[in-house]
Amino acid sequence: MNEIKNKLLKLAAEKENDLIDLCSNLIKAKSVNPNGDIYSAINVIKEYLDKSNIEYELIDRNSKEFPIIIARVGEKKENGKTIFLNGHCDVVPIGDIEKWNFDPFSGEIKDGKMLGRGTSDMKCGLGGLMFMMKVLKENEAKLNGEIVLHIVSDEETGGEFGTKWLYENNYFEDGAACIIAEPTSSNNCEVGQKGSLWFKFKSYGIPAHGSIGNYVGENAITKLLKLLNRLEDFRTIEGKYEEKQLPVLEDSKKIARESLKVEGVDNVIDHVTVNIGTINGGTNTNSVPDYCEASVDMRIPIGIKLPFMLDKLKSLINELGLKGIEYDYTWNSEANYTDVDTELVKAVVRNADYIWNAKTIPAYQWASSDARYYRLKNIPTIQYGPANTEGIHSYNEDVDVIDIVNCSKVYITMMVDLLDITL
Ligand SMILES: [Zn+2]
Repeated sequence: MNEIKNKLLKLAAEKENDLIDLCSNLIKAKSVNPNGDIYSAINVIKEYLDKSNIEYELIDRNSKEFPIIIARVGEKKENGKTIFLNGHCDVVPIGDIEKWNFDPFSGEIKDGKMLGRGTSDMKCGLGGLMFMMKVLKENEAKLNGEIVLHIVSDEETGGEFGTKWLYENNYFEDGAACIIAEPTSSNNCEVGQKGSLWFKFKSYGIPAHGSIGNYVGENAITKLLKLLNRLEDFRTIEGKYEEKQLPVLEDSKKIARESLKVEGVDNVIDHVTVNIGTINGGTNTNSVPDYCEASVDMRIPIGIKLPFMLDKLKSLINELGLKGIEYDYTWNSEANYTDVDTELVKAVVRNADYIWNAKTIPAYQWASSDARYYRLKNIPTIQYGPANTEGIHSYNEDVDVIDIVNCSKVYITMMVDLLDITL
């Protein structure tokens, strides 16, 4: 570890309480989405940036309800680099309060863990990024370029006014790298993710009296069920990987096996998954229904493209001889990834290995995140953030304090490598 990193780490250690207070204040802010107080978190962030003399702009022309903050340190240089960072400050609702063992907005520390909604997803990751910027700013670090942090506030309901909006309005071009502080385990970083393809199916039939339904009319529900039952076939579709991706694939499957602990679950990484999420049809018990609809979430592995999936669906409907079924789809994104031999991935692995004194594994995820927008702009992107994955979007969310602290150290040391920092 070089001298500059050691110096910055020492300074960060002296200010550790500052990081913990920031995270705790973020947890106390009830920025629940939907229907919470987003500005409670925005105000904590503004106050911290003001106090740290970090330059920022608040954008609300995307949406008054879900503002964006863009903060930066360093400056754009001709031969310098721009490193983007991304975090969201909204959290999902707490659900049934009775199922929590503690106040979900406490932000307290107990037995080495910080407690509350958003500790893992992802206020403490965001806090780590802000703290890293403060450490660099306060110590007048000289950067070969700039760090630009995008803080969005509607990630949990689809991101329409967050990263997607920044993407569509060209807020990030020509980045050398992007780091998203979404939760990963401390021993892995996300370097790729599946795509998602959401269908809405509509089935039309012919109404009749229920008593003669087996002979007369056409039941829209049973027709749609025939199709839905066969969608399971899609689960055999396997991704296609380049030779150099195979070790990452193997590691990712191992992580899935170890974390999800269900027989065969590692297929979640490299096969299509199918979830029938909603179904609705019919009006009363004694009528043959003439309408039924269902929505389906498919997750698509690396190497499988949209036209292939649509062809498969068309042939299945033909094979089953189903008439009167319509569908439309939203294609959120293809599966996307960053090569493991990029400087960004090497930097996170090298520094996380050092900070944790353990091996950090680049891996593909089964879900998707805002990383896809940066990758669509050809910016190498990883996800690395503190987390205890069990509590995410569930009850009793917490995160280990050591994870918060070490993660911020990884951010600091990575920046030294990526931006040739001197003091
Ligand atoms: Zn998140």
